[in-house]
Amino acid sequence: MTTKTEINDATKALYLEDSYLKDCKATVLNVSGRRVELTHTVLNPHGDAIAHPQPHDKGTLVLGRKLLSVSKTILEGDRILHYVKEKPPPVGSEVGCYLDWARRYRIMRNHTAMHIMAQLALDICGGRINGNLECRDHITHIDLRDCKTEDSLAKRIEREANKIIQEDRKIKIFYIPLKEVQEFIDPRKAESCVIPSNVEKVRMVSIEGLCSDICYGTVLRSTREIGHIRMLPKHNKFFEEKAGGNKRLAFVVS
Ligand SMILES: [Zn+2]
Repeated sequence: MTTKTEINDATKALYLEDSYLKDCKATVLNVSGRRVELTHTVLNPHGDAIAHPQPHDKGTLVLGRKLLSVSKTILEGDRILHYVKEKPPPVGSEVGCYLDWARRYRIMRNHTAMHIMAQLALDICGGRINGNLECRDHITHIDLRDCKTEDSLAKRIEREANKIIQEDRKIKIFYIPLKEVQEFIDPRKAESCVIPSNVEKVRMVSIEGLCSDICYGTVLRSTREIGHIRMLPKHNKFFEEKAGGNKRLAFVVS
């Protein structure tokens, strides 16, 4: 388990407060090459493990009548940087910050599904999560270790996940004091957990009746929005053997 300083000291990360916020107003704080730092943003960067390996957002900055495409958003230290294709806006200017919502919503559905699948995989197959939860905008995977790997168990995970989706369970974001965080961490997920340091409170995501995880990503309000989960076999097997003894489960949402 590692520690990490709090993200977003410089830029107000509005997506942490509301995953459904699609735009905001902001002032340009800094420009370096094509990288623009803002006072506020609705774009979630691709960060390190603290933010979960969730793909970065894309979007548009609006300066007067000019539209600037944001092709990438990254977390660098405590700063969120927006890469624009066009000439960056000057420092101090007021811009509109707009999210590519279709892309983000697909990511949110995958990311929320990942929380469900990780918990069910542990409950059904045993073992532990090996630090590798890779949520992309289409295929998402979970790496387990020391677990059972029968195909029938993978199908059971899929069935139970889709049942949880149909039950439309509520998803909540809440904060807990840093000193209490150890009580909330499932030791089987500890390797995939990064606990922020130098913060008083840690952000958690809970899925009703299933799990609570440290999470700095964007999630849905309820499970029904995920749609449907389908496991993807590789070479006709659901558990793919990876280097170092990892067993990989891959799935898509539709
Ligand atoms: Zn998460």
